[in-house]
Amino acid sequence: MRSMLQCMDCGRQYPTNRVLYTCETCGGLLDVVHNLAALRRVVSRELYDARLGALRGPYRSGVWRYKELVAPDLPEDLIVTRPEGNTNLYQSQRLAVYAGLDKLYLKHEGENPTGSFKDRGMTGGVTQARALGKRRVACASTGNTSASLAAYAAWSGLQGVVLFQNKQVALGKLSQAVAYGAVCIRVAADFDRNLELVREIADELDIYVLNSVNPFRLEGQKTIMIETMQQLGWEAPDWIVLPGGNLGNCSAFGKGLKELYDLGLIDRIPRIAVIQAEGANPLYKAYLTEFEHYEPVHADTVATAIKIGNPVNYRKAVRTLEETSGVVEQVTDQEIMDAKAQIDAAGIGCEPASGCSLAGARKLAAAGIIRADETVVAILTGHLLKDPDATISYHRGELAGITPAFPNHIHEAEPTVEALAAILGPN
Ligand SMILES: *Cc1c(COP(=O)(O)O)cnc(C)c1O
Ligand SMILES: [Zn+2]
Repeated sequence: MRSMLQCMDCGRQYPTNRVLYTCETCGGLLDVVHNLAALRRVVSRELYDARLGALRGPYRSGVWRYKELVAPDLPEDLIVTRPEGNTNLYQSQRLAVYAGLDKLYLKHEGENPTGSFKDRGMTGGVTQARALGKRRVACASTGNTSASLAAYAAWSGLQGVVLFQNKQVALGKLSQAVAYGAVCIRVAADFDRNLELVREIADELDIYVLNSVNPFRLEGQKTIMIETMQQLGWEAPDWIVLPGGNLGNCSAFGKGLKELYDLGLIDRIPRIAVIQAEGANPLYKAYLTEFEHYEPVHADTVATAIKIGNPVNYRKAVRTLEETSGVVEQVTDQEIMDAKAQIDAAGIGCEPASGCSLAGARKLAAAGIIRADETVVAILTGHLLKDPDATISYHRGELAGITPAFPNHIHEAEPTVEALAAILGPN
């Protein structure tokens, strides 16, 4: 089988037991490449459908069910799993109407063990840390990566180290990292500088870096696509719509979908639509120039999970967009929070960044880029409880620059039947 690390730019290959994040020759991003010719003889829809009933062992995980496609050479006893994945694929008529579509699915990655899709990457990354014999793992994070890293480090007996930016970390996420026992360091710098710092300390302090530059994380994250296709009976939808921050998911989705197609597990590749917040839109700006020009931006958005000005996986994301006839759209914080309020009020719920998927699908449908009769899967990336401040502030009308279109006011009442009746009215 023999998977390799391969530079996406110069093609140089390295064995997977090297500790590398970028190419030694040209600095390019690395992919974990698998021997698809050998895999073709092994994997099938039937194989993965048969594993859906697993009650024990790694196949119970929605990542490791597809082990052949994630880490075919890995000894099973090294796997660190909670187990993650197996998230719901909701079909909501109410939200389809809001988006202006006939049919809309929502794949809820906030239903992972620590409440975001980062767990799918972290099981891959922490498992690789063990395979490499590392004792310490670290990341810089807008929040969810550190929550996930802290949990997986604790679960596997490694030391977790997380670097936070100095402000705007959602409380739910910070409390997770602290509670799971990671070494938490608040650094007076933004996310992008923190990411550089982690890379700078890695060699010196023998730390394994688990930001999404780590290609083994992306192997775990691509299973969001594999699991979605399986839930759809291996029938690919027309569109996948997802938020874009560091663009790890976008990169992983493109790789995963291409592999599924090459292996004959799906018959066509869906188009990918990446949605960025208007205040953190470097990919969108580059898209407008057909990727001729790329420039980092100063990021600012209520959706802190995607508040990223210089996405590390930019080059891989461009590759995904080219290979999937993808599009990029931007939405305002107002559109993000209103879409989130709709998802919440449908009884599903998500954190602000996930609102991008619905807001973006709606905008693309209104523009006629997504046709109403096309099948759309919107990815919800994080759980409602991650950022309670944003939710409550929205409903109170206290988010700067945002007038809530769908506020749910909290009533005040005296402790009497009359007072409650006055609020509730007759049935
Ligand atoms: C990390 C994260 C994102 C951004 O994903 P990328 O792969 O970095 O583009 C979006 N939403 C949530 C909730 C996240 O935690
Ligand atoms: Zn290279």
